Amino acid sequence: MSKLIQPKFDLNINGMKFLGRGPKASGKGIGWSRNENIVYKCVDCGSEMLASHNDYWNCECGAIHLDFDAGRFGSNYGDENILVYKKNEQTEKNLNSENKRKSFLTELIEKVFKPKN
Ligand SMILES: [Zn+2]
Repeated sequence: MSKLIQPKFDLNINGMKFLGRGPKASGKGIGWSRNENIVYKCVDCGSEMLASHNDYWNCECGAIHLDFDAGRFGSNYGDENILVYKKNEQTEKNLNSENKRKSFLTELIEKVFKPKN
């Protein structure tokens, strides 16, 4: 089990609610939620990724990697070092039009990313 890293930034972010660490905090407990209102944040560099992201992704420090084709998501520091946030309602409304186009595409793909380890 990897140890918890304490973020250098403030855990509280305007417009978002901190839910916890790791896949369990992201939703139903099996894998990482792909809900479009969930945001994953690297505890080390603070890079943020929307859970509904539809492509390969790396955070700035390189710890978090999303292998989109394999549907795998995780951090080299361990799942507990990925912070999970939920967007507040006001923010959701703004994002809805942007995500509407993508949403039926997303439904064709698995709803969760599997943890890397
Ligand atoms: Zn990082």
